[in-house]
Order: sequence, then structure tokens, then C-alpha cells
Amino acid sequence: MNNETVGSLLAVIANSLNDGLRIMMFADKQGWSSDEFDQLKLLEETLDEAKRDFQELPALVHGQVYYEHDRKSESLEDLRLLCTRFELHMQNFKDWARTGGPINPVWARETIELRRELHRAQCRAARRIFNAEQETTTRCLGAFQVFRVQRSPEKAQQRNLEELMMSNKVGKFERFGEHGIAFVCDFCDGYMVWDDLREMPSHRKPTTTPDGLEPMSGTSTTPATQDTWQATGFSASDGTEKPIVFAPVVIANHMPPVPGEWQARILCPYCDEYYEYEQGDDEMERVKWNQDEDGFEDMAAFKEHLEWSHVGIVPSTTNCSVM
Ligand SMILES: [Zn+2]
Ligand SMILES: [Zn+2]
Repeated sequence: MNNETVGSLLAVIANSLNDGLRIMMFADKQGWSSDEFDQLKLLEETLDEAKRDFQELPALVHGQVYYEHDRKSESLEDLRLLCTRFELHMQNFKDWARTGGPINPVWARETIELRRELHRAQCRAARRIFNAEQETTTRCLGAFQVFRVQRSPEKAQQRNLEELMMSNKVGKFERFGEHGIAFVCDFCDGYMVWDDLREMPSHRKPTTTPDGLEPMSGTSTTPATQDTWQATGFSASDGTEKPIVFAPVVIANHMPPVPGEWQARILCPYCDEYYEYEQGDDEMERVKWNQDEDGFEDMAAFKEHLEWSHVGIVPSTTNCSVM
């Protein structure tokens, strides 16, 4: 079918879900156990979430019509696969309607999994539209949402909370390997990995820049953001305190992994706001600092860069005598 779009495939999935939902809704509920009621609720929630995403995600990328008519091949492939999986899943309920008896509790797990996959597929479709619109390589759409919260002045009072809440909305923290923690972005599938960390700290280290220490002085202006990028965690292997890059700082600045890679690359938010003065024709001109647009390849490289280049925004209690 050549006139498939993101919108038409999502409609097929919604119809499929509706079929299953109707079967459960109109079934004779005498003799139902909690399994059946839970299943009905899960189907309702899945449809609700799909609708909500369909309404909210386009607002991030030029609006409904644009999203609905999008036909990027990767997005269509993702959704086509989901159409088939939803159809197969709903066949269970059609068969059950004929045979009766208790439903298979395994189906609930399948519904939960499909719900999550559908959410991620919609996020990725929106992100592809977003990234295709950018002139240069830039943040992932998921990152951009956290970034916006961090820049919003009215959120300044409770920024830690807001940026963490948004982070949890755009992806998921999970254990990684034996001791690590990863954040996986719903919008790009990129991984950000903190090695050897017991749990993710929920607060930035407070800024305690001593008087008289001018961050990044010289011929350049200082970056607007003076938030510290550090948080204090604990090693999972030996329990010792260790400084890490605060999770929302990483999440807000990641880029979708390049094809074939799984780790998200990370842009430096401080370099991104950094201007230098150069001699122009008549006067000094303000020139945006050009950071390597490929970003840093992993957390270690990003942290090392922050420690060496943005020492002014490191809390004074840390060992920052490198300058
Ligand atoms: Zn992402
Ligand atoms: Zn930098």
C-alpha cells in the first residue's frame, strides 16, 4: 500500500485496539476474575495513551497535519510491524470470545509491552521529523524537552524536580551491566551510561563558586548557565562517594546515536553558549564558539571535558586545581 502514512498506520492500530476493547467491554462479566478486569483496563489505558501521544507529540514538531502525513520509511516500518503485532494480540481476545473461560494472564504482559513499544514508536517518529528539520546536527527531541525546562526562568525555583520529571517522561533509567545505570531515550533509543553507580542522585551539587573566581574569563564572555553539572553518587562496587555528571545535564544534551551505534553522543551545553570576540572590519565581533558538532562519544569523554574546560562551574569543594 503506497499511501501509508504515520497517521494511517496509527489508525489501523487504534482500530485493532478498539476491536479488542469492544470484545472485552461487551462480554458477559459474570464470573470474571480480576485478571479480566485488569486486562480490560490495560486495553483502555493503551488506547488512551496512544491517543494522547498522537495529540501531544505533533505539537513538538510543527503540528498535527505534519506528523499525520509523515512518511519517513523508518517510521512506517516501525508502525507496520506494530500493526501486525497488535492484530495478532487482538486475535487472542477474538478467540477467547468464542471459547469463553478465563483469559490467559500472559496477555496482560503482552499488552503492557505493546503499549510501551507503541509509545516509543510514536516518540521516534516525532524525533525523526524534528531532526530532519535541523540544519546542523543537534540535540535529540527528547533532549530538547529537558533542555527547555532547564532554560525556563519560572522553573528556576524547583529546577531539580522539574528536570528530573521531564527526564523520566522522555525515557527510562535502568540497570546496566553489573554495576552501572543507563538512561535509554524513548525518542532515539540512545543509551547514556554511568558506570559503577549505586543509584542515581536526584540533586545537583549546590554552586559554591568562591568570590573572585571568574569562570572562563579572558577574551570571552561567560556562559549564561552557572548551574553546576555535578552530583554526588556512590560507587556500587565499593560504596565510596564519587562525583558524576548530573543525569538531566546529560539527557538534555544528547544526540541520537549515529547509525550502527547504541550510545548517544553528548553536546557540551556550556560550549554551546560560549562566544568569543574576534576582530571584525570595524569593531570586535561576537562569534559563536564552534564546538565539535559530533559531540562527545560517551560519558567519560564528556565528564573529562567538563572537568578540564568548565572548571568555573565545578563546585569549589572538588579538586579543580588544574587551572
Ligand atoms: Zn534521544
Ligand atoms: Zn564545553
